[in-house]
Amino acid sequence: MKLYNTLSRKIEEFKPLEKGKVGIYICGPTVYDYAHIGHAIAYVNADVLIRVLKWLDYEVKSVMNITDVGHLTDDADDGEDKMEKKAKAEEKTAEEIAEFYTKDFWQMTKMMNIEKPDVVCRATEYIKEMIELIKRLEEKGMAYKISDGMYFDTSKLKDYGKLARLDIEGLKEGARVEKNTAKKNITDFALWKFSKKEEKRQMEWDSPWGVGFPGWHIECSAMSMKHLGESFDIHTGGIEHIPVHHTNEIAQSEGATGKQFVKYWFHSNHLMVEDEKMSKSLKNFLRVEDIKKKGFDPLSLRYLFLSGHYRTKMNFTWKGLAAAEEGYKKLKSMVSEWGGIKNRTSLSEEKLQKLQGLSLKFKQTVENDLAMPQALAVVWEMVKSNIPEQDKWELIQDWDRVLGLNLTQVKNDKLQIPNEIEELKKKREELRKEKKWDEADEIKKQVEEKGFKVEDTTEGTVVKLK
Ligand SMILES: [Zn+2]
Repeated sequence: MKLYNTLSRKIEEFKPLEKGKVGIYICGPTVYDYAHIGHAIAYVNADVLIRVLKWLDYEVKSVMNITDVGHLTDDADDGEDKMEKKAKAEEKTAEEIAEFYTKDFWQMTKMMNIEKPDVVCRATEYIKEMIELIKRLEEKGMAYKISDGMYFDTSKLKDYGKLARLDIEGLKEGARVEKNTAKKNITDFALWKFSKKEEKRQMEWDSPWGVGFPGWHIECSAMSMKHLGESFDIHTGGIEHIPVHHTNEIAQSEGATGKQFVKYWFHSNHLMVEDEKMSKSLKNFLRVEDIKKKGFDPLSLRYLFLSGHYRTKMNFTWKGLAAAEEGYKKLKSMVSEWGGIKNRTSLSEEKLQKLQGLSLKFKQTVENDLAMPQALAVVWEMVKSNIPEQDKWELIQDWDRVLGLNLTQVKNDKLQIPNEIEELKKKREELRKEKKWDEADEIKKQVEEKGFKVEDTTEGTVVKLK
């Protein structure tokens, strides 16, 4: 398989550290607010990667963190702890906040058919491991204490900032005009923050340096290395985490172990909403729940996400979602017709070659840095081909392990007929009852123009795909 690696800025041949096995860490959510569709796309992209690896017969171990402490309102080391801030605002305990929004996150992933990771770790349950890691850095002379916490000395690593290709000299220049801090270098970051004397925190722990709480970055390093070892294969996340969060995860992990932390960095690009960045001020945060409330199937959103490449910025529009839903339902409806076929017909040489060709093409496409838009095109090429339906059914069952669109889970026919067609069908039935045959025929024509066929049976009117 070929995979783009942010570290090298190149598409590389994927070679895991241990043959046949893959350790993957998915940078998880900070559970202080609802998950929105920007989160959904990042986790769908990571899910597709994991599904492809499993489909290619790798033995995958996936680990995800739940950040329930230490992520400050500013991604650097200032501001309030997001969890504590929300707890105050909602007059709840930080634990209640974490529980509530973690549940919301899992609901979102379930709706999007994202597989649950093998290991899920809550930051507050790994404080001991984080302290151990900071101790190791301190012993190596890479950590120092100032009034508000323990900091990592980035000047001790010669390749600090390699993931983001940070211009360290440029940053130093820029820093001169900023306010003075006690930090030794502008890029140094907190490993452990002390609780402020004037403020009573809900979440704080004893440490060799003073009472406080862990920095956000140290959490991911400590938890990933605990479950995947000091070096592992893949780390995923959104591209916004490249310059600070992931850069600092690498620094403290490689600083402590002297080994390469992660071999491949997989980053998912942003999602825009109607050409705008999602932001609090624009009030355009959309949840999967909002999509569902408008009558859309969340898997239509997954289908829409698959129609773009994970490294390309995607623009969500309601129009685009409606088109994706039409495509998705049409596909599902066609698949449902193949499922009932039991008699296997023998394949002619020509059809066998076509089948093998399609099968190979799909594999090559997904192996090519997860080219999902092209993979969907192969799906449609197969749907429209003349290979027997029984073979189509088997192919789609196999491919859906990658797509995750629940294509072969057909509950009832109604599901796959768009609402608009259902409405027309009802209208036509009314007209027929009133013996308005001409008008009923007119509607039949409209339905047929949209790619469906109308059959009048003894049990009433049935609409099917043409
Ligand atoms: Zn992380």
